[in-house]
Amino acid sequence: MIIPVRCFSCGSVIADRWQAWRNHIDAGMSLSDALDEVGLERYCCRRLFVSHVDLIEEVAPFTTAQQ
Ligand SMILES: [Zn+2]
Repeated sequence: MIIPVRCFSCGSVIADRWQAWRNHIDAGMSLSDALDEVGLERYCCRRLFVSHVDLIEEVAPFTTAQQ
């Protein structure tokens, strides 16, 4: 849904690199090169980016907050 703030395995902060990584992907860079570019070297952190499905925009309209 939303990228985890920290890696589940090693505890490293990873969420701050998400937007930069998305920008590299949108610019046509390969997944692996983009991960290297944002500094994610451990495979525990890399798997979170590669396997993440960004669904927050689709789930947000169903929030219980008053509008
Ligand atoms: Zn990690």
